[in-house]
Amino acid sequence: MYNVIIKNAKVFDGTGKAGFYADVAVKDCRIAAIGKDLEGETTQILDAAGLVLSPGFIDPHTHSDLPLMVDGLAQSKIRQGVTTEVVGNCGSSPAPLMGAVVKEIQAEAEPYGYKVDWTNFGSFLDKYRSQGVAQNVAALAGHNTIRACVLGYDDVQPTPGQQKAMEQLVADAMQQGAHGLSTGLYYPPGFYAKTEEVIGLARVVAQHGGIYASHIRSESDTLMESIREAIEIGRRSGAQVQISHLKLEGSHNFDGADRVLEMIEQANRDGIAVGTDQYPYDASSTWLGAILPNWAQAGGNEAVARRVKDPATRKLLVQDWKDHRLDWENRSGITNWDQILVVTAQGRPEVVGRNVQEIADQDGKDPLETLFDLIAISEGSASAVWFDQLEKNVQYLMKYPRLVTGSDGNALSTEGVLGSIICHPRSYGTFPRVLGHYVRELKLLTLEEAIRKMTSLTAAYFKLEGRGVIREGAWADIVLFDAEKVIDKATFTHPQQYPEGIPHVMVNGEWVIQNGEHTHALPGKVV
Ligand SMILES: [Zn+2]
Repeated sequence: MYNVIIKNAKVFDGTGKAGFYADVAVKDCRIAAIGKDLEGETTQILDAAGLVLSPGFIDPHTHSDLPLMVDGLAQSKIRQGVTTEVVGNCGSSPAPLMGAVVKEIQAEAEPYGYKVDWTNFGSFLDKYRSQGVAQNVAALAGHNTIRACVLGYDDVQPTPGQQKAMEQLVADAMQQGAHGLSTGLYYPPGFYAKTEEVIGLARVVAQHGGIYASHIRSESDTLMESIREAIEIGRRSGAQVQISHLKLEGSHNFDGADRVLEMIEQANRDGIAVGTDQYPYDASSTWLGAILPNWAQAGGNEAVARRVKDPATRKLLVQDWKDHRLDWENRSGITNWDQILVVTAQGRPEVVGRNVQEIADQDGKDPLETLFDLIAISEGSASAVWFDQLEKNVQYLMKYPRLVTGSDGNALSTEGVLGSIICHPRSYGTFPRVLGHYVRELKLLTLEEAIRKMTSLTAAYFKLEGRGVIREGAWADIVLFDAEKVIDKATFTHPQQYPEGIPHVMVNGEWVIQNGEHTHALPGKVV
C-alpha cells in the first residue's frame, strides 16, 4: 500500500537531467516507484499536472540551530521547499556546551525565551529528536564554540594540551553525529586561531570522513589569501572543504571573480575537494560589532559594548577605523553609510529598517559615532544588512558548476516568538528566488541545473545518503512547485513574507506543506 501516488508531474531527479513526465509513488519514508501510469493500492492520489516534482532542497548553510529548537515547524524554510538543513555554520554551534560557552549560548537563546539544557553534541541532537522537527537536520560542530569551551573568548593561543583537548571535542562531536567542522575565522574568537590550529582540528574531521566548512577570514580586502588558507587547510588535513557563502565584498575586489573560481578549480585539479555555496543576494548581514577591529571584538557582546561605551577606548576605535589596516576586515570601509541597513537594534527599535546615514542625520552625529552608539545601547547585539556586493558578481558565481545554493538564513516564522525576528530576506526567499528570478526571469541557469545545485550536489558534499535525488529507494523528500509562478516575496524592508508557487512539500514520506498550508507534521530526522 502506497502513501501516495503523485501523478502527471514533470520530474527533475536532481542529477541535472532534464525533466520528464512520470508518476512517483511513495511508501512509508521512501520513494517506491517511478514510471508512467503507476497503479497500485494507495491512500492518496495527487494530480500534480502543471507542477515540477523535484527532490526536496538541501540548505547547506543555515543558522537555524536555536530557531528549530524554539519552533520545529521551520515555516520559512519548509515553505521554500527545503527538506534538509545543515546547521552549525560559521564556527558557531550550540554544542558542545561547557565553560564560557554556556553563558553565550544562553544569551543567544534569551530573545526566544528558550532555556538551553544539553551538554555534548549528542544530547544537543537528541533534543531535536525528542521535540520533533518538520525538516531533516544535519549538524556541524563550530570551531568558535569548541575553541571557547577550552580557551574562552579571549585573544590567546592554545598550549599543546589545549589543542589536544579541542581535537578531542571535535572527535566526540563527530562520533555523536556531527557531519564536520565549521569555522568562522572572521568572527571572535575564531579569528585568533592560526591556520595550524584549524589544520589540527580538520585532520580529526578528515579521519571521520567529515567536511570542513569555512566562513573564511575575509571576504573583502584579503579574500584571495583567505581562500588560499581554506584550500591549504584542506590540502594538509585531507578534509573536504566547503567555502561558505562565496562572495566578493568591497569595490577593491569587484574584478576578482575569475581569480576566485580559478583557485577553487586548481585545488580540485590538485586533488583537494573544494566546493562552495552562495545566497542569491547582493547584500550580506551580520552584527554591527563586526566593523570593529579584531582586538575590540574579544570577550563576547558585553565586553564589546563596554569598549564602545568607554570614551578612551572609543577614541582608539575611531583611530583604528580611520587607519583602515588590513589585519582586520573594515566592513564600513568597504561600504557607504547609506548601504548599511539596521535590522535589529535592541534599545532603539524605532531605527530598525533605516540606514546608518539616515539615523546619523537624525541624531545630528557622525555616522561612525552613531554606529558605536547602536552597539552600545543594544549591548552589542544590534545587526545590519550591508549592501556590499555587485549583482554582476552574484550572477557570475551562481553559474559556477561547483557552487550550490544555501541561504545562510534561519528557519523562522511570521508567527509566534520567531515572528519578532527581523532578518535578511534570504531566510524566507533564497530557493524560490533562484528558481523564479534567476532561472525563469533572467534565464541564468536551466531549471535542471538550478535543481542539481539545490539537491544532489549538496547531498554529495555533505554525504547525505539517499537524499537529494528522485529514484526508487531514496528517502521521500519531495517538493512540488509551479515553475511558471514560483517566486520569493521577501524584501530587505519586508523580509517576513513566504514565497509563492510551492504548494506541496514532503519530508520522509509525510506531507509538511499541502496545498500551501503547513500540516504541523514533524517528520524530520537528524541525519
Ligand atoms: Zn558566515
